[in-house]
Amino acid sequence: MSTRIPVLDLAPEIDALWDELQAALGRVLRSGQFILGPEVKAFEDEVAAYLGVRHAIGVNSGTDALVIALRAAGIRCGDEVITSPFTFIATAEAASLIGATPVFVDIDPATFNLDPRQVARRITPRTRAIIPVHLYGQAADMDPIMELAVRHELRVVEDVAQAFGGRYRGRMLGTIGLAGAFSFFPSKNLGAFGDAGLIATNDDQLAETARMLRAHGSRRKYYNEILGYNSRLDALQAAILRVKLPHIEESIAGRRRAAEYYTRRLAEIPGVTPPPEAPYATHVYHQYTVRIAAGRRDAVQARLTERGIGTMVYYPVPVHQLPVYADRPYDLPNARQAADEVLSLPIWPQIAPSTQDAVIQALRDAMA
Ligand SMILES: *Cc1c(COP(=O)(O)O)cnc(C)c1O
Repeated sequence: MSTRIPVLDLAPEIDALWDELQAALGRVLRSGQFILGPEVKAFEDEVAAYLGVRHAIGVNSGTDALVIALRAAGIRCGDEVITSPFTFIATAEAASLIGATPVFVDIDPATFNLDPRQVARRITPRTRAIIPVHLYGQAADMDPIMELAVRHELRVVEDVAQAFGGRYRGRMLGTIGLAGAFSFFPSKNLGAFGDAGLIATNDDQLAETARMLRAHGSRRKYYNEILGYNSRLDALQAAILRVKLPHIEESIAGRRRAAEYYTRRLAEIPGVTPPPEAPYATHVYHQYTVRIAAGRRDAVQARLTERGIGTMVYYPVPVHQLPVYADRPYDLPNARQAADEVLSLPIWPQIAPSTQDAVIQALRDAMA
Protein backbone atom coordinates (compact mmCIF):
# COMPACT_ATOMS: atom_id res chain seq x y z
CA MET A 1 0.00 0.00 0.00
CA SER A 2 1.76 3.15 -1.16
CA THR A 3 -0.97 5.78 -1.39
CA ARG A 4 0.56 9.02 -0.18
CA ILE A 5 -1.67 11.07 2.09
CA PRO A 6 -0.48 14.62 2.78
CA VAL A 7 -1.25 16.36 6.07
CA LEU A 8 -3.02 19.10 4.07
CA ASP A 9 -4.23 19.11 0.45
CA LEU A 10 -5.04 22.58 -0.95
CA ALA A 11 -5.67 21.31 -4.50
CA PRO A 12 -9.41 20.46 -4.23
CA GLU A 13 -10.28 24.01 -3.18
CA ILE A 14 -8.10 25.59 -5.87
CA ASP A 15 -9.57 23.26 -8.53
CA ALA A 16 -13.13 24.06 -7.49
CA LEU A 17 -12.52 27.82 -7.58
CA TRP A 18 -10.05 27.92 -10.51
CA ASP A 19 -12.09 30.06 -12.91
CA GLU A 20 -13.11 32.55 -10.23
CA LEU A 21 -9.52 32.79 -8.96
CA GLN A 22 -8.20 33.43 -12.48
CA ALA A 23 -10.81 36.11 -13.07
CA ALA A 24 -9.96 37.80 -9.76
CA LEU A 25 -6.22 37.77 -10.49
CA GLY A 26 -6.83 39.13 -13.99
CA ARG A 27 -8.97 41.93 -12.57
CA VAL A 28 -6.15 43.02 -10.23
CA LEU A 29 -3.43 42.76 -12.91
CA ARG A 30 -5.46 44.98 -15.23
CA SER A 31 -6.28 47.48 -12.45
CA GLY A 32 -2.63 48.38 -11.92
CA GLN A 33 -3.35 48.84 -8.20
CA PHE A 34 -1.38 46.21 -6.28
CA ILE A 35 -1.24 47.45 -2.69
CA LEU A 36 -4.32 48.45 -0.64
CA GLY A 37 -6.86 50.18 -2.91
CA PRO A 38 -10.44 49.12 -3.73
CA GLU A 39 -9.78 45.35 -3.70
CA VAL A 40 -8.40 45.47 -0.14
CA LYS A 41 -11.18 47.84 0.97
CA ALA A 42 -13.82 45.46 -0.43
CA PHE A 43 -12.20 42.49 1.33
CA GLU A 44 -12.08 44.41 4.62
CA ASP A 45 -15.77 45.31 4.31
CA GLU A 46 -16.71 41.70 3.52
CA VAL A 47 -14.74 40.29 6.47
CA ALA A 48 -16.20 42.94 8.80
CA ALA A 49 -19.71 41.92 7.68
CA TYR A 50 -18.94 38.20 8.11
CA LEU A 51 -17.52 38.71 11.61
CA GLY A 52 -20.12 41.31 12.55
CA VAL A 53 -17.45 43.81 13.61
CA ARG A 54 -17.06 47.56 12.99
CA HIS A 55 -13.52 47.54 11.60
CA ALA A 56 -11.34 45.12 9.65
CA ILE A 57 -7.82 46.25 8.75
CA GLY A 58 -5.81 44.20 6.25
CA VAL A 59 -2.11 43.81 6.98
CA ASN A 60 0.88 41.85 5.70
CA SER A 61 0.72 38.80 7.98
CA GLY A 62 -0.77 37.37 11.15
CA THR A 63 2.42 38.28 12.97
CA ASP A 64 2.09 41.92 11.92
CA ALA A 65 -1.60 41.82 12.92
CA LEU A 66 -0.49 40.89 16.46
CA VAL A 67 2.31 43.48 16.60
CA ILE A 68 0.11 46.29 15.27
CA ALA A 69 -2.92 45.35 17.38
CA LEU A 70 -0.78 45.31 20.55
CA ARG A 71 0.79 48.68 19.75
CA ALA A 72 -2.56 50.20 18.76
CA ALA A 73 -3.94 48.89 22.08
CA GLY A 74 -1.30 50.99 23.86
CA ILE A 75 1.02 48.18 24.97
CA ARG A 76 4.53 49.54 25.52
CA CYS A 77 8.04 48.76 26.61
CA GLY A 78 8.12 47.13 30.04
CA ASP A 79 4.48 46.04 30.05
CA GLU A 80 3.74 42.42 30.87
CA VAL A 81 1.60 40.44 28.44
CA ILE A 82 0.17 37.12 29.62
CA THR A 83 -0.05 34.43 26.96
CA SER A 84 0.09 30.73 26.22
CA PRO A 85 3.35 28.77 26.04
CA PHE A 86 1.68 26.29 23.67
CA THR A 87 1.42 28.22 20.41
CA PHE A 88 3.43 29.36 17.41
CA ILE A 89 6.36 31.65 18.33
CA ALA A 90 4.66 34.67 16.68
CA THR A 91 2.25 35.13 19.62
CA ALA A 92 4.96 35.86 22.19
CA GLU A 93 7.34 37.30 19.62
CA ALA A 94 4.85 40.08 18.84
CA ALA A 95 4.89 41.17 22.49
CA SER A 96 8.70 40.99 22.68
CA LEU A 97 9.17 42.92 19.41
CA ILE A 98 7.40 45.98 20.86
CA GLY A 99 9.49 45.79 24.05
CA ALA A 100 6.86 44.15 26.24
CA THR A 101 7.53 41.02 28.29
CA PRO A 102 5.58 37.85 27.51
CA VAL A 103 4.55 36.02 30.68
CA PHE A 104 3.69 32.37 30.06
CA VAL A 105 1.01 30.55 32.04
CA ASP A 106 0.09 26.91 31.73
CA ILE A 107 -2.65 25.50 29.51
CA ASP A 108 -5.82 23.54 30.17
CA PRO A 109 -4.80 20.01 29.08
CA ALA A 110 -8.28 19.29 27.68
CA THR A 111 -8.27 22.19 25.19
CA PHE A 112 -4.56 23.09 24.84
CA ASN A 113 -5.60 26.72 25.50
CA LEU A 114 -4.83 29.27 28.25
CA ASP A 115 -6.17 28.17 31.64
CA PRO A 116 -7.96 31.25 33.09
CA ARG A 117 -7.16 30.17 36.69
CA GLN A 118 -3.45 30.21 35.86
CA VAL A 119 -3.85 33.64 34.22
CA ALA A 120 -5.38 35.03 37.44
CA ARG A 121 -2.33 33.89 39.44
CA ARG A 122 0.20 35.68 37.23
CA ILE A 123 -1.38 39.14 37.11
CA THR A 124 0.96 41.80 38.58
CA PRO A 125 0.79 45.62 38.70
CA ARG A 126 2.75 45.62 35.39
CA THR A 127 0.35 43.33 33.52
CA ARG A 128 -1.31 45.25 30.70
CA ALA A 129 -2.65 42.65 28.28
CA ILE A 130 -3.66 39.04 27.71
CA ILE A 131 -3.27 37.23 24.38
CA PRO A 132 -5.51 34.14 24.36
CA VAL A 133 -4.75 31.81 21.43
CA HIS A 134 -7.60 29.81 19.89
CA LEU A 135 -5.29 26.90 19.15
CA TYR A 136 -6.09 24.37 16.40
CA GLY A 137 -9.35 26.27 15.71
CA GLN A 138 -10.95 25.89 19.14
CA ALA A 139 -11.95 28.86 21.33
CA ALA A 140 -10.08 29.63 24.53
CA ASP A 141 -12.46 30.02 27.50
CA MET A 142 -13.15 33.74 26.93
CA ASP A 143 -15.72 34.62 29.64
CA PRO A 144 -13.38 34.19 32.64
CA ILE A 145 -10.54 35.81 30.65
CA MET A 146 -12.72 38.86 29.88
CA GLU A 147 -13.81 39.04 33.55
CA LEU A 148 -10.16 39.21 34.63
CA ALA A 149 -9.49 41.82 31.96
CA VAL A 150 -12.33 44.04 33.19
CA ARG A 151 -11.34 43.65 36.85
CA HIS A 152 -7.65 44.47 36.23
CA GLU A 153 -8.07 46.88 33.27
CA LEU A 154 -6.20 44.65 30.84
CA ARG A 155 -6.37 44.72 27.04
CA VAL A 156 -7.29 41.44 25.36
CA VAL A 157 -5.90 40.77 21.87
CA GLU A 158 -7.13 37.42 20.55
CA ASP A 159 -4.74 35.34 18.41
CA VAL A 160 -7.25 34.03 15.86
CA ALA A 161 -4.62 32.87 13.33
CA GLN A 162 -5.91 29.28 13.46
CA ALA A 163 -9.59 29.95 14.09
CA PHE A 164 -11.19 32.10 11.38
CA GLY A 165 -14.94 31.43 11.62
CA GLY A 166 -14.70 29.72 15.02
CA ARG A 167 -17.20 30.62 17.75
CA TYR A 168 -17.30 30.98 21.53
CA ARG A 169 -20.84 30.54 22.88
CA GLY A 170 -22.07 31.54 19.43
CA ARG A 171 -19.88 34.68 19.21
CA MET A 172 -17.32 35.03 16.43
CA LEU A 173 -13.74 34.61 17.61
CA GLY A 174 -11.67 37.74 17.19
CA THR A 175 -14.60 40.00 18.15
CA ILE A 176 -14.75 39.29 21.90
CA GLY A 177 -11.58 41.00 23.11
CA LEU A 178 -10.48 44.53 22.25
CA ALA A 179 -9.04 43.23 18.96
CA GLY A 180 -8.53 40.01 17.02
CA ALA A 181 -5.42 39.19 14.96
CA PHE A 182 -6.00 36.88 11.98
CA SER A 183 -3.54 35.15 9.63
CA PHE A 184 -4.25 34.16 6.04
CA PHE A 185 -1.01 32.20 5.62
CA PRO A 186 -1.71 29.68 2.81
CA SER A 187 -2.28 26.69 5.13
CA LYS A 188 -4.72 28.50 7.46
CA ASN A 189 -8.47 27.82 7.17
CA LEU A 190 -8.89 30.95 5.05
CA GLY A 191 -5.61 30.98 3.13
CA ALA A 192 -4.09 33.41 0.66
CA PHE A 193 -1.39 32.53 -1.91
CA GLY A 194 1.27 34.27 0.16
CA ASP A 195 1.46 36.15 3.44
CA ALA A 196 -1.59 38.13 4.58
CA GLY A 197 -3.29 39.07 7.85
CA LEU A 198 -6.03 41.22 9.37
CA ILE A 199 -7.01 43.03 12.56
CA ALA A 200 -10.67 43.07 13.63
CA THR A 201 -11.98 45.48 16.27
CA ASN A 202 -15.06 47.39 17.42
CA ASP A 203 -12.85 50.15 18.86
CA ASP A 204 -12.73 53.22 16.59
CA GLN A 205 -9.55 54.61 18.15
CA LEU A 206 -7.67 51.31 17.90
CA ALA A 207 -8.77 50.94 14.27
CA GLU A 208 -7.54 54.41 13.37
CA THR A 209 -4.16 53.82 15.00
CA ALA A 210 -3.81 50.38 13.36
CA ARG A 211 -4.52 51.90 9.93
CA MET A 212 -1.76 54.44 10.51
CA LEU A 213 0.71 51.86 11.84
CA ARG A 214 0.35 49.60 8.78
CA ALA A 215 1.34 52.51 6.51
CA HIS A 216 4.43 54.02 8.20
CA GLY A 217 2.39 55.88 10.81
CA SER A 218 0.61 58.16 8.38
CA ARG A 219 -3.04 59.07 7.87
CA ARG A 220 -2.08 60.98 4.74
CA LYS A 221 0.78 59.87 2.50
CA TYR A 222 4.08 61.67 3.31
CA TYR A 223 2.65 63.24 6.50
CA ASN A 224 3.94 60.71 9.02
CA GLU A 225 2.81 61.23 12.61
CA ILE A 226 4.19 58.17 14.42
CA LEU A 227 6.72 55.43 13.61
CA GLY A 228 4.95 52.54 11.96
CA TYR A 229 5.55 49.65 9.59
CA ASN A 230 5.31 48.71 5.95
CA SER A 231 2.51 46.22 6.48
CA ARG A 232 -0.08 46.88 3.81
CA LEU A 233 -2.14 44.04 2.38
CA ASP A 234 -1.60 43.15 -1.32
CA ALA A 235 -4.54 43.58 -3.68
CA LEU A 236 -3.78 40.16 -5.25
CA GLN A 237 -4.07 38.43 -1.88
CA ALA A 238 -7.24 40.34 -1.07
CA ALA A 239 -8.78 39.33 -4.42
CA ILE A 240 -7.96 35.64 -3.76
CA LEU A 241 -9.39 35.84 -0.25
CA ARG A 242 -12.57 37.46 -1.61
CA VAL A 243 -13.09 34.40 -3.83
CA LYS A 244 -12.63 32.03 -0.89
CA LEU A 245 -14.53 33.93 1.84
CA PRO A 246 -18.07 33.12 0.59
CA HIS A 247 -17.22 29.39 0.89
CA ILE A 248 -15.83 29.50 4.43
CA GLU A 249 -18.91 28.12 6.20
CA GLU A 250 -19.05 25.19 3.77
CA SER A 251 -15.36 24.58 4.35
CA ILE A 252 -15.80 24.68 8.16
CA ALA A 253 -18.67 22.20 7.82
CA GLY A 254 -16.39 19.86 5.82
CA ARG A 255 -13.70 20.02 8.50
CA ARG A 256 -16.23 19.40 11.27
CA ARG A 257 -17.64 16.43 9.39
CA ALA A 258 -14.14 14.96 8.94
CA ALA A 259 -13.32 15.55 12.63
CA GLU A 260 -16.47 13.79 13.77
CA TYR A 261 -15.61 10.83 11.52
CA TYR A 262 -12.13 10.56 13.03
CA THR A 263 -13.32 10.98 16.61
CA ARG A 264 -15.95 8.25 16.40
CA ARG A 265 -13.38 5.70 15.14
CA LEU A 266 -10.23 6.78 16.97
CA ALA A 267 -11.91 6.59 20.39
CA GLU A 268 -11.69 2.80 20.06
CA ILE A 269 -7.89 2.73 19.74
CA PRO A 270 -6.19 2.34 23.15
CA GLY A 271 -3.54 5.02 23.78
CA VAL A 272 -5.05 7.51 21.31
CA THR A 273 -7.05 10.45 22.74
CA PRO A 274 -9.14 12.36 20.20
CA PRO A 275 -9.55 16.12 20.79
CA PRO A 276 -12.65 16.90 22.87
CA GLU A 277 -14.77 19.88 21.78
CA ALA A 278 -15.36 22.21 24.74
CA PRO A 279 -19.06 22.87 25.50
CA TYR A 280 -18.59 26.60 24.78
CA ALA A 281 -16.75 26.14 21.47
CA THR A 282 -17.58 25.64 17.84
CA HIS A 283 -14.26 24.10 16.80
CA VAL A 284 -13.20 24.78 13.19
CA TYR A 285 -10.50 22.07 13.18
CA HIS A 286 -7.65 23.98 11.58
CA GLN A 287 -5.84 20.96 13.00
CA TYR A 288 -7.22 17.62 14.10
CA THR A 289 -4.81 16.85 16.91
CA VAL A 290 -4.76 13.68 18.99
CA ARG A 291 -2.66 12.75 22.00
CA ILE A 292 -0.48 9.64 21.84
CA ALA A 293 0.25 8.54 25.39
CA ALA A 294 3.33 7.31 27.21
CA GLY A 295 6.28 8.48 25.16
CA ARG A 296 5.22 6.71 21.96
CA ARG A 297 4.38 9.75 19.83
CA ASP A 298 7.64 10.02 17.87
CA ALA A 299 7.71 6.28 17.09
CA VAL A 300 4.06 6.35 15.99
CA GLN A 301 4.72 9.33 13.76
CA ALA A 302 7.69 7.51 12.19
CA ARG A 303 5.50 4.45 11.48
CA LEU A 304 2.89 6.65 9.77
CA THR A 305 5.59 8.36 7.70
CA GLU A 306 6.78 4.91 6.53
CA ARG A 307 3.22 4.21 5.37
CA GLY A 308 3.17 7.48 3.39
CA ILE A 309 0.91 9.33 5.81
CA GLY A 310 1.75 12.95 6.56
CA THR A 311 1.40 14.18 10.14
CA MET A 312 2.73 17.19 12.03
CA VAL A 313 3.72 18.02 15.59
CA TYR A 314 2.40 21.46 16.55
CA TYR A 315 4.50 22.21 18.58
CA PRO A 316 7.46 20.02 19.62
CA VAL A 317 8.87 22.63 22.05
CA PRO A 318 6.71 24.95 24.17
CA VAL A 319 7.53 28.61 23.54
CA HIS A 320 8.98 29.20 27.02
CA GLN A 321 11.55 26.43 26.37
CA LEU A 322 12.68 27.72 22.95
CA PRO A 323 16.25 29.06 22.86
CA VAL A 324 14.97 32.68 22.57
CA TYR A 325 13.06 32.45 25.85
CA ALA A 326 14.86 29.63 27.65
CA ASP A 327 16.65 32.01 30.04
CA ARG A 328 13.46 32.34 32.11
CA PRO A 329 12.57 29.98 34.90
CA TYR A 330 9.22 28.42 34.12
CA ASP A 331 7.70 25.10 35.04
CA LEU A 332 4.60 24.53 32.92
CA PRO A 333 3.95 20.78 33.04
CA ASN A 334 0.74 20.74 30.97
CA ALA A 335 2.44 22.53 28.07
CA ARG A 336 5.46 20.24 28.32
CA GLN A 337 3.31 17.12 28.29
CA ALA A 338 1.25 18.39 25.34
CA ALA A 339 4.44 19.02 23.34
CA ASP A 340 5.45 15.38 23.97
CA GLU A 341 2.07 13.87 23.07
CA VAL A 342 0.36 15.83 20.28
CA LEU A 343 0.08 14.60 16.71
CA SER A 344 -1.93 16.39 14.01
CA LEU A 345 -3.53 14.08 11.44
CA PRO A 346 -4.41 14.82 7.80
CA ILE A 347 -7.46 17.09 7.54
CA TRP A 348 -8.93 19.44 4.94
CA PRO A 349 -12.55 20.27 4.08
CA GLN A 350 -12.88 17.77 1.21
CA ILE A 351 -10.94 14.83 2.71
CA ALA A 352 -12.69 11.58 1.73
CA PRO A 353 -13.82 9.03 4.35
CA SER A 354 -11.78 6.39 2.49
CA THR A 355 -8.66 8.53 2.95
CA GLN A 356 -9.48 8.90 6.64
CA ASP A 357 -10.00 5.12 6.88
CA ALA A 358 -6.43 4.61 5.62
CA VAL A 359 -5.11 7.03 8.27
CA ILE A 360 -7.14 5.31 11.01
CA GLN A 361 -5.98 1.83 9.97
CA ALA A 362 -2.34 2.92 9.87
CA LEU A 363 -2.68 4.51 13.32
CA ARG A 364 -4.34 1.36 14.69
CA ASP A 365 -1.43 -0.75 13.31
CA ALA A 366 1.16 1.67 14.69
CA MET A 367 -0.41 1.51 18.16
CA ALA A 368 -0.78 -2.29 18.19
C1 LIG B 1 0.19 31.24 11.80
C2 LIG B 1 0.15 31.78 13.19
C3 LIG B 1 0.58 33.08 13.50
C4 LIG B 1 1.33 33.95 12.54
O1 LIG B 1 0.72 34.20 11.34
P1 LIG B 1 1.62 34.56 10.06
O2 LIG B 1 0.58 35.01 9.06
O3 LIG B 1 2.34 33.34 9.65
O4 LIG B 1 2.53 35.67 10.44
C5 LIG B 1 0.40 33.55 14.79
N1 LIG B 1 -0.16 32.78 15.73
C6 LIG B 1 -0.56 31.52 15.49
C7 LIG B 1 -1.18 30.72 16.59
C8 LIG B 1 -0.40 30.97 14.21
O5 LIG B 1 -0.79 29.71 13.98
